[in-house]
Amino acid sequence: MNSAPSDTGLSNTGLSNTELFDRAQAVIPGGVNSPVRAFGSVGGTPYFVAAANGPHVYDVEGNRYIDYVQSYGPTILGHAHPAVTEALQAAVVLGTSYGAPTHDEVRLAEEIAHRVAGLEMVRLVSSGTEAVMTAIRMARGATGRDRIVKFAGNYHGHSDSLLVAGGSGVARQGLVGSKGVTAGAVADTVVAPYNVVPELDETVAAVVVEPVAANMGLVEPTAGFLEGLRHVCDEVGALLMFDEVITGFRLCFGGAAQWFGVSPDIWCFGKVIGGGLPMGAIGASAEIMGNLAPLGSVYQAGTLSGNPLATAAGLAVLEQLTPDSYRRLTEISARLQTGLSAAFNDAGVEACVPRVGPLLGLFFGSEPPTDFDSAKKICDNGMYQRFFHGMLSRGVAFAPGAYEAVFTSLAHTDVEIAATIEACREVAEEMA
Ligand SMILES: *Cc1c(COP(=O)(O)O)cnc(C)c1O
Repeated sequence: MNSAPSDTGLSNTGLSNTELFDRAQAVIPGGVNSPVRAFGSVGGTPYFVAAANGPHVYDVEGNRYIDYVQSYGPTILGHAHPAVTEALQAAVVLGTSYGAPTHDEVRLAEEIAHRVAGLEMVRLVSSGTEAVMTAIRMARGATGRDRIVKFAGNYHGHSDSLLVAGGSGVARQGLVGSKGVTAGAVADTVVAPYNVVPELDETVAAVVVEPVAANMGLVEPTAGFLEGLRHVCDEVGALLMFDEVITGFRLCFGGAAQWFGVSPDIWCFGKVIGGGLPMGAIGASAEIMGNLAPLGSVYQAGTLSGNPLATAAGLAVLEQLTPDSYRRLTEISARLQTGLSAAFNDAGVEACVPRVGPLLGLFFGSEPPTDFDSAKKICDNGMYQRFFHGMLSRGVAFAPGAYEAVFTSLAHTDVEIAATIEACREVAEEMA
């Protein structure tokens, strides 16, 4: 293996990744605080990050990587963007949590409502998992029904009722769901194949969907799928819920509803809206949101909800994101898509690089998958692992798992894109 390009100026700490991973494994299960980070499906030792800036992360050994993980989505401006770090520095001296409302919470809720047509009210929480969990409870409370329909390969966080047939880490571990989840917890969860409009009846409270599936690689909704969901939900009085934790404020200014011209009844956000701090949000019409306590009888609460540091970071990010930002991010992703596709094609490696606006995926198969079954066949074929290590050894970090999307940021310039494509040409030759 080539050694990664070294840029020791920023952060050579005298620690080694191997030594830290050993220590980590003694005190943290698997050495990590979220399973994908352990490199289980690609093998090898994770790099321990010491610092990050713009398109780059630096590990404790001083190696620099062009980063396409970007925290799995939150850092859309790139790492340590001055607007975010300055907002955080200004906020931190004012105190870190109050247990009382703040001006910035109001501003962030207004920003979200302003961008998303049909969304009138927002409740802030501390993660995407919490957002979807609360949204489900609210949908059940609002409809007086129990059943939830979800799609195989969609990931909605790690709450009990939604882990079944989940994408992302659940898929990578080869789990159909998780131990420790009772049969009762999933008794009211119905799993349907992605891109097929399911038949519903009047026991269904909500249909929850990733409008672009981004946790089984990147899988586009086929024409008519989201429209079909809207239609069947309306027919039986079920609520349509878009899990926009990835697509929200990354796909375009107004999120997936704007992109596809289909509006859900309930939106879930996370990732981008926290600017790299713990944050999630549930949004809907005033009528539906009126079910939440203290207005209604669906209980939900959080000690750190609307946390002043997270809201400051979220606001700083949203203020930077104009419609033009999405044109630029789309250009960056399109350039990467074209370059990677050409590199694989020239080397004779079967690959496809699906893209929906700025959202990018990578599959080592001839056709982009349309559902979980076809995605699994490709993701588990062993090719991604070779690509991943080839790139990492050349200083380019893709996610350590085939089920993840490729995250570009507004900090990726032509220089990083060209270097990535160059590295990919070498890796593709090796893979061929
Ligand atoms: C990441 C993700 C979640 C969970 O968010 P966390 O902040 O990790 O709890 C939920 N839904 C989707 C679509 C996600 O990508």
